[in-house]
Amino acid sequence: SKTVKSDIEIAQEAVLTPIASIAEKLGLNESEWEPYGRYKAKVSAHLLEKLDADGKIILVTSINPTPAGEGKSTVTVGLGQALNRIGKKTVIALREPSLGPTMGLKGGAAGGGYSQVVPMEDINLHFTGDFHAITTAHNALAAFIDNHIHQGNSLNIDPRRIVWKRVLDLNDRALRHVIIGLGGKTNGVPREDGFDITVASEIMAILCLSLSLEDLKARLSRMLIAYTYDGEPVFVQDLQVEGALTLLLKEAIHPNLVQTLENTPAFVHGGPFANIAHGCNSILATKLGAKLGDYLVTEAGFGADLGAEKFLNITARAGKFTPNAVVIVATIRALKMHGGLTKDELKDENLDALAAGMENLACHIDTIRAFGLPYVIALNHFITDTDREVALVNEWCAENNHPMALSKVWEDGGAGGEDLARMVTKVIEETENHYHPLYALDDSIEEKIQTIVRKVYGGAKVEFSSKANRQLASFKKNGWDKLPVCMAKTQYSLSDNPKLLGRPHDFTMHVRELKISLGAGFIVALTGSVLTMPGLPKHPAALDMNVTADGKVTGLF
Ligand code: ADP
Repeated sequence: SKTVKSDIEIAQEAVLTPIASIAEKLGLNESEWEPYGRYKAKVSAHLLEKLDADGKIILVTSINPTPAGEGKSTVTVGLGQALNRIGKKTVIALREPSLGPTMGLKGGAAGGGYSQVVPMEDINLHFTGDFHAITTAHNALAAFIDNHIHQGNSLNIDPRRIVWKRVLDLNDRALRHVIIGLGGKTNGVPREDGFDITVASEIMAILCLSLSLEDLKARLSRMLIAYTYDGEPVFVQDLQVEGALTLLLKEAIHPNLVQTLENTPAFVHGGPFANIAHGCNSILATKLGAKLGDYLVTEAGFGADLGAEKFLNITARAGKFTPNAVVIVATIRALKMHGGLTKDELKDENLDALAAGMENLACHIDTIRAFGLPYVIALNHFITDTDREVALVNEWCAENNHPMALSKVWEDGGAGGEDLARMVTKVIEETENHYHPLYALDDSIEEKIQTIVRKVYGGAKVEFSSKANRQLASFKKNGWDKLPVCMAKTQYSLSDNPKLLGRPHDFTMHVRELKISLGAGFIVALTGSVLTMPGLPKHPAALDMNVTADGKVTGLF
């Protein structure tokens, strides 16, 4: 049966349409896009200024992720395919996967089953080279900083207070802390440094938040790189390298066009972390997709407490657009884990655990309502779900008046998402949209964080460490307090304790540290520890990957 095939087997059997006909379907003329081989293309970012009609923007988010898997990307792709099937011209926008998780824990990430974007191998490996360009721009800046110090340090940079590290798109824990500049006078000035993964680079976040090449350059020039011996901040513009950095990104800024298994147009562009950054594909891809289609479906990383909150408080504000609806993905398996089961117990029917786990979904629904947006719950169906379990979710939604549809896009592609597609277009047409961000940029940093903790997480209060308190004062003094807040929190729980599943109440959030991303334009609030350079597990996914003599890829999920 088809359901036992792996994602890569399904992707390899797909009949792809030449990218030229996808571009044609979108109404693009030859000067507006450029082929990158047979099945990939870049669409000009400049097109944004030329097109005026705006389609509807649909955000796909989910309950708190569990190791049982939620299938957000799968539903995003499937919903896009389904909308096309019911006659709505739809474009999809997704993040580009990082090689860290691909070679490490997860394997590839381009949707799943019969709802995938293709060519899957390319998207998961080097694709159109954007991550390479971002890595190079990031490391070029690091080299410019070290060279500046080596050549006399006229900016008076304190080598102990450089906040700009180096990056690599791999999981490599051995590079978290390094000493550079060893070897004597001709080899630079020795100092402590470290590597982050490319998706944690502020340049990745900036690329995804920029509205044009000019905006990209302005954001790059504002980035904080170090402090002087007198404690004064030093910015990229002080080094005068924003031109060179922008140059390195001049192709990467253009959204990449691919297709789904059913030839629905899809942008795959950018992929910032969803904790220390905002976790969404580029605004350019989202806005361009919405202009080229009547509907644009996109997703944001992790659950609605992180991804949707940031999409609605940070991304939509930066992109100056109004989202039209939110799809909240839930699975019976994950809900049962929120209801207290372990992963091994999920195969058996358990209505009590499922009923208890609905609390987690309820919290995320409240969040989307707090933003004033229409929503639909998508129950991502697994073949192990029992009829009684599905009925329970149905009844709960009906009793509480929540629009809901069963999604079978993983097993049936777009055909399995038509109910969901009809429900989404219905709520967009029939429900009033009162979208508004949850806080004003003029609120103090403390107030902004308190608003998120109370209205989104359902927590009681926020405690700031003494370090965070010192940083609050210094950010305020530097005039950096009028930016939105980007929360770095565990994705597993609504609280800052990854073990507290379901819907915890009356908890206190602990803000350990703050970080300023002036180019991206947000203040990162770190709760708990966040690894910006992950490590590999004992059995990395890479061990199961291979390529045959004739170039066929195996094991990439
Ligand atoms: P997320 O975006 O939430 O991380 P993905 O859509 O990437 O999740 O899916 C993660 C994995 O789970 C993929 O390998 C996908 O094929 C699988 N998956 C998703 N939905 C289903 C489903 N309904 N049944 C079986 N497997 C699924």
